[in-house]
Amino acid sequence: MLWRSRRAAILVAGLVAFGLACAAYSLNRRSHAAAELEEAGRTLHRLISQRVDQHDAHLTSLSALVQAAEPAPIATVEQVAASIVRFYPRIVGIDVVDLALSPPRSLLDVADPAVVTEEARQAAGSNLRTRALDGGARLLLVKRALTDGVGHYALALVIDMARLSASDTPLPEGAAVHLRLIEPGQASDPPASAFSAEIASRTQPLRLTLTTSAPDWPLPPLAFLALAGLLVALAMFLVDRLLEARNVAREAARKAGLAEQDARLAHAGRVNAMGELASGIAHELTQPLTAILSQAQAARRLLAQPEADQAVLAGAFEAIARNARRAGDILGRLRAWISKSEPVVETVDLTELAGEVVHLLAANAQGIGATLRVSGDGSRSLVRADRVQLEQVVFNLVRNGLEAVEGRDGERSVTIKVGTQGGDAVLAVRDSGPGLSPEAQARLFEPFFTTKPAGLGLGLALCVRLVERFDGTLAAENAAEGGAVFSVRLPRSAENQREAAE
Ligand code: ADP
Repeated sequence: MLWRSRRAAILVAGLVAFGLACAAYSLNRRSHAAAELEEAGRTLHRLISQRVDQHDAHLTSLSALVQAAEPAPIATVEQVAASIVRFYPRIVGIDVVDLALSPPRSLLDVADPAVVTEEARQAAGSNLRTRALDGGARLLLVKRALTDGVGHYALALVIDMARLSASDTPLPEGAAVHLRLIEPGQASDPPASAFSAEIASRTQPLRLTLTTSAPDWPLPPLAFLALAGLLVALAMFLVDRLLEARNVAREAARKAGLAEQDARLAHAGRVNAMGELASGIAHELTQPLTAILSQAQAARRLLAQPEADQAVLAGAFEAIARNARRAGDILGRLRAWISKSEPVVETVDLTELAGEVVHLLAANAQGIGATLRVSGDGSRSLVRADRVQLEQVVFNLVRNGLEAVEGRDGERSVTIKVGTQGGDAVLAVRDSGPGLSPEAQARLFEPFFTTKPAGLGLGLALCVRLVERFDGTLAAENAAEGGAVFSVRLPRSAENQREAAE
């Protein structure tokens, strides 16, 4: 569940990161495109400003030519006009209109004399007049040629607006150029994503606008999407792995903490069981000690005789040593049992381990008139576990079995059976007790569940934890022939599996 919500969070973060990467790309492209448009606009603006100034110069020089003689030297004017038009293709026509004639007449037949006359009449002095023709496609410039404030000629220049704003420098993709005459009182409202500036000319009020058909938020190209997607997916994978590793480390630390608690609890349990074992151990020790005493007395008697039989004497000392070793073994087993050593995982032979437990509890079994024995199918069952902890599991199960048969009429027996099942090693403790009640069966492994007046209810809960630590399971059931069976199932060691395979 936890990993699902973690992965969902990583997925959301990944999608957000991907979205942000795309947005950053778009933003970058957008500002780049805006900068390009601005740059192109400025270049074009400079160019048009220079061209517009040339119109002023042409009109001034033509005006001087027209005034050179009376009547004006039309043939010369026509020649000059033709060369201007040839050199400056944006100037599509030059005309001279004689305003003194009625109606005024165009001398070069280029412009409409009525329109030129209308503009010329409105011009104050020799000021230049502008007028948009053909819906703004062409621009008409009109100037009166005046000498000392009087004169009857008007000069006209017809400019092609498209050529006026044409440039050799390529425009950014999707950009369009608009050059318009600013009419008095006309509001100029350029679009937000465009370049717009007035041409710096006193005589020709023009506005240059560059618009772009590029989308406001350009979509990143497929390669970018694929790369960003790949990187985000990789980052998501790495974050997932890192979090997973952190969780595993935490889980390991938690387990280590639990293991330490279990080890302490197990030790407390063993120390606790010492009380129960004490009488049995004392009983067990009596035998070798009594034997040592009697052999020692016999030896002393023999030594008192003048002709002591050396061989008999040696036999007595041999028996003393053997029994002393046996007593030492009993105490050694006890010391190992209550030792507080660090858990060590080693290869453990289950039959040997069962024998140890039988040794420890034999006196207790005898005390309640029960038989305690180990039976096996002859196969060697080796597992990887901590010997002391596993011994404690079996000890607890056997002790529970003995408690179940204590005071029972009829058979009182506890059997430890060691064998294999489905490739695993199985150690089953069976007793001839009353078996498990339905309630006990349901709650057996719960901590503090006990039906005994002085019970703690921790034995089986601890057993499960210890067995699981060695990758095993503990199961309980009632045997068909009566009594309870507790089965510890553990994976066999690699060495044992090899042996079995041979
Ligand atoms: P405790 O022995 O302190 O009660 P355990 O965890 O060892 O704690 O056992 C819990 C309970 O399980 C016991 O009180 C008993 O009711 C039941 N139980 C355990 N082993 C047997 C058994 N061999 N036969 C019947 N009941 C058992």
